Amino acid sequence: MSQTVRLLSYPVHLVSHDEALQRITQSLAAKTNLHIVTLNPEMLMQGDADPELGAILRSAGLVIPDGAGVVWALRRQGYPDVKRLPGIELSEAVLLHADSCQLRVAIVGAAPEVLEQACLNLKARYPRLQIVFQHHGFMTSSRDEQAVAKECADHRPDVLLVALGVPKQEKWIHQYEHLFQGTVFIGVGGSLDIWSGLKQRAPAFFLKTNLEWLYRITSEPWRIKRTYRTLPLFVVKVCLSKPDQP
Ligand code: UDP
Repeated sequence: MSQTVRLLSYPVHLVSHDEALQRITQSLAAKTNLHIVTLNPEMLMQGDADPELGAILRSAGLVIPDGAGVVWALRRQGYPDVKRLPGIELSEAVLLHADSCQLRVAIVGAAPEVLEQACLNLKARYPRLQIVFQHHGFMTSSRDEQAVAKECADHRPDVLLVALGVPKQEKWIHQYEHLFQGTVFIGVGGSLDIWSGLKQRAPAFFLKTNLEWLYRITSEPWRIKRTYRTLPLFVVKVCLSKPDQP
């Protein structure tokens, strides 16, 4: 089902897990950069309010339906077979591929101790994984940020996971992408918190029923404010929008 559709003027690529991986391997073979956005409703609403983020979302090479709200909206628009493709699961598949193909992986983001533990856990899980560069996500100045990006690029990663939260990670990737060549970038949000063991993914029931978001806001109540600021507006906009032609 590889197809590009529009959701509220943003492109979404309807790809299965395997098709996404295929797109990634093609990009690696062609030595081109590929920015992967793991889309959720919050990002779309932030993109409407922030033109810089909006433009990045529209120009990313691969935009996958990560959020349950995105899946709901697309099914409502006439794509009943759309399934969630969680960014953390795609990233884990990419790491597995990196492990078996000896790809060079870099990771930028999260608190220093979280990053350290996440990298240790990932190396235990993928024993041949080459993490050629890692740096925490709390850079103190834009000069520092730029130096980290340059140092990261000097390590010529095939895959760069950026965990700075939205919209920081998308902007970071967009700003520094030109320093890299043949790199697959994924904005992975809170995935390092999960890989470090600091946080847990939702139990299987929530994943199966597309309710991971509900688990996240109940286990991290500070998210409620963020969700309530954006979700109702997203639902209204989707309900008022003209369906894309399937
Ligand atoms: N983070 C970071 N630098 C910052 C802000 C956030 O490294 O300046 C990290 C934070 O520690 C966490 C991740 O970015 O590991 C964001 O996680 P969150 O679950 O909030 O991501 P989102 O909900 O945006 O996907």
